[in-house]
Amino acid sequence: STMPPLLASIANAGRHGVLVKSATVMERLGRTSLVAFDKTGTLTHGAPVVRDVTARPGHTRQSVLAWAAAVEQHSEHPIGRAIVRAVPEGTTPATNFRAIPGHGVEGVVDGRLVRVVQTVDESGTVGTIVDVLVDNEPVGTLTLDDALRPDAASSVARTEALTASPVHLLTGDNDRTATDIAARTGIRVVHARLLPADKADAVKRLEDDGATVMVVGDGVNDAPALAAASIGVAMGRHGSDLALDTADAVIIRDELSAVPAVINLSRKAHRYVV
Ligand code: ADP
Ligand code: MG
Repeated sequence: STMPPLLASIANAGRHGVLVKSATVMERLGRTSLVAFDKTGTLTHGAPVVRDVTARPGHTRQSVLAWAAAVEQHSEHPIGRAIVRAVPEGTTPATNFRAIPGHGVEGVVDGRLVRVVQTVDESGTVGTIVDVLVDNEPVGTLTLDDALRPDAASSVARTEALTASPVHLLTGDNDRTATDIAARTGIRVVHARLLPADKADAVKRLEDDGATVMVVGDGVNDAPALAAASIGVAMGRHGSDLALDTADAVIIRDELSAVPAVINLSRKAHRYVV
């Protein structure tokens, strides 16, 4: 065929399930020297389940879940969706909803301020733990589990082989869960407890050190890091609109292996020397 080479490589990326937004992005992909993955929704499926509920004295596990779900029904975060799914009987109304990025949510339920936020106590087991507070009083905790993508470890290994530098993990979650996910995927560099702006700062530091960084993420909270990276890649299937808009490329097929595949495609098309 007479298709120009860059267009041909974009079409080829499409066949591998990656939407590359421009020819310059297609070319830049091959120069990726370091890849940083977000955790929730990127290395994991982003469909957590509530595994455990604890209640402080004077409260029941049912009421702790009900307070949390009332607020979380307004959240688009995977944690919020999981908490709502854990209450099949339905939620009570909440007003004044507010999301605190990288931290949690709050709202008013029955005239009381309910907050569902990242726990201050990390002594528990592995898992994402959130505290439920009613009028600033801690009433209980929820622990959530999110399954790893089956191709997470192999995609990390293949990416490291292509970029010749260690893959980084960027997450707002706690150190314990971050370290556990890193161990199970073979990631050796972990940045945990990051706010959205911290994720972007971590990327900027790597770029300042001379790396051409690709960030792979899915959430609203990943948008600043996607923008700060030389190449921002969004997981498309469950990705937030902001992440899809900000990214230079979108993974349409819901597989992490598309990341090393598209780097490799660009290298082949443009004959880069690593
Ligand atoms: P990640 O970087 O892993 O995608 P986020 O930055 O989205 O995680 O969130 C970081 C932490 O903030 C979560 O692990 C959780 O403790 C808390 N958090 C975020 N959103 C919510 C929510 N809707 N409800 C409760 N806690 C939340
Ligand atoms: Mg995420």
